[in-house]
Amino acid sequence: MSQSKTLQRWTIEDSEDLYQIREWGLSYFGISDNGDVTVTPLTKNKNISVSLPEIISGIKDRGYDMPVLLRFEDILDSQIAKMHESFRSAIDQFGYKGDFKGVYPIKVNQQKQVVEAITSFGKQYHHGLEAGSKSELIAALSFLNDLDACLICNGYKDTDFIDLGLYACKMGYKCFFVLEMPGELDLILERSKELNIKPLIGVRYKLSTTAGGHWTESGGDRSLFGLTISQIIEVLEILKSHHMLDCLQLLHYHLGSQIPNIRDIRASVQEACRVYAGLVKEGAAMGHLDIGGGLAVDYDGSHTNYMNSRNYTVNEYCVDIIEAVMEILDSEEIDHPTIITESGRATVAYYSVLVFNIFDANMIDDGDKDAPLPEDLPELIANMIETYKTLNVRNIQECYNDALYYRDQVRQMFKLGDISLRERALGDRIFWKIIQSINDHMDTMKYIPKELSDIKVALSDIYYANFSVFQSLPDSWAIGHLFPVMPIHRLNEVPTRNAILADITCDCDGKIDRFIDRQGVGNVLRLHEIKEGEDYYLGVFLVGAYQETLGDLHNLLGDTNVVSIRISDDGMYNVVREIEGDSVADVLSYVEYNPKRMIKRMRQTAERAIREGFITPQDRREVMLKYEEGLRGYPYFKN
Ligand SMILES: *Cc1c(COP(=O)(O)O)cnc(C)c1O
Repeated sequence: MSQSKTLQRWTIEDSEDLYQIREWGLSYFGISDNGDVTVTPLTKNKNISVSLPEIISGIKDRGYDMPVLLRFEDILDSQIAKMHESFRSAIDQFGYKGDFKGVYPIKVNQQKQVVEAITSFGKQYHHGLEAGSKSELIAALSFLNDLDACLICNGYKDTDFIDLGLYACKMGYKCFFVLEMPGELDLILERSKELNIKPLIGVRYKLSTTAGGHWTESGGDRSLFGLTISQIIEVLEILKSHHMLDCLQLLHYHLGSQIPNIRDIRASVQEACRVYAGLVKEGAAMGHLDIGGGLAVDYDGSHTNYMNSRNYTVNEYCVDIIEAVMEILDSEEIDHPTIITESGRATVAYYSVLVFNIFDANMIDDGDKDAPLPEDLPELIANMIETYKTLNVRNIQECYNDALYYRDQVRQMFKLGDISLRERALGDRIFWKIIQSINDHMDTMKYIPKELSDIKVALSDIYYANFSVFQSLPDSWAIGHLFPVMPIHRLNEVPTRNAILADITCDCDGKIDRFIDRQGVGNVLRLHEIKEGEDYYLGVFLVGAYQETLGDLHNLLGDTNVVSIRISDDGMYNVVREIEGDSVADVLSYVEYNPKRMIKRMRQTAERAIREGFITPQDRREVMLKYEEGLRGYPYFKN
């Protein structure tokens, strides 16, 4: 950071710029005048902001420890409303004759709270559900009670799945079976005859359009799911022979998740519309075009077609789809269908925030400037000190090379027993002073040699964060997904440290070392110095989609506490639902330990220790209290 910036007052605008919160926060997240992150759910007639640190403090008062996953149910409502209002306005603008129906794909976040919240708020829009497995259909039926909403069944279907879906049809649900494989049709026809219930059938089309992004495999000929054109023709023939073309009412495709480029979305709609038109001309009833998911989230706030972003808004998405459908179907003189989307990520990503505390930091040693140097220094170390003293902008590269050379020499001599432990430590300390000084000089240099550009990372602090990447941010670890991370308070103070985050798993992959910054992706995160006796909290934002059940039990950390929040008109927040995270006993029992038996064994161990004279019976009582308390407790780091 340049010297001038430290001297000026650091403002919240500086923090907004540094962490790019306005770019990825969609007006849901911002910074208050006193430097707190605020949450503004933007539901109808409500433009009320609540401070995130205040919520955290209230949650701690209620007895919950960090980490905690906060869910803002109002944001979920807002996202659903926004999607429907955007489609409604595009439909009106272009005079589209069909309707729009959204469905939520349960797999994106299967938690009961989520499905319950979506079906209850979504009812006014007839927002439905998408089930990709038998369990999801069973879950869907228990919450969806709106017969005008769609219930889309994707995934492989066995007899039980099909029977359940058919009964749903009989009860009046718009429950579609989408054929993923040609073979599924026979079973559907067989069960439908057996139960004497007419099915609603859709086909999943394997697009030839592909798109950029992580999840491109869902489109294109290599895609695992869906039917080719010739397989769709086969389905038509079979249905025709059963006089059931009236049952074929839907065409579906799914280009993949997080499609960053609007052109790919448009191209796939156009392609699918030709297939749709063809099916109508073949005599299928049709009426529904289900364009799957793919609506992306701008995680890095760059508004580009990069992997973690998107180059369009929700409004543009809706307009492009309506336009593309009308363009193709009008030219084919086909009636406008009901458009269905299966947006998962965009619906739920924004509403969850993971908050954790930093429980320790490994600051890079600034060098104890005033520490006196010993009298008779080995020559090598005296040379290092000389290098340090003569360093300037012009000889920076030379000094860097010298520093590396001397450091290696010091290590070598130590190995050979030629210098002492203290001399070795002194050598290390001076080495880092040189590196630090090079780093300070680099701030004033226009051109930075490539070799030196990694110094920032080497000089970064390690902040130890109370959460598990594997449990709470599996995509960050598995596919290098970028989530916005930033402090949730002190944003009116200058962040003076460059840091990377280590989680508490002590696994070398348990870290975050790629961050959103103004230039795209950075290797360090600017953070504040930790104050003695004061908690420091960070938030990871936009984590509502795909993270919760993909997480694993690495290092036996388990589910975090989850607290759902609603913000009322008077600006107060209410804790509306809470789920206590796993206890140590819970996570151990997932891997087949039996806590009751463990206590019994521990008692025996302690009894033996009494017999052998290591502890007293009173000690045993204390040991057992601790042990049982440990079992009941939260597996994360307790302050
Ligand atoms: C995963 C999935 C979705 C959800 O996609 P998003 O990009 O999260 O909206 C929708 N439909 C199908 C068939 C899926 O497999």
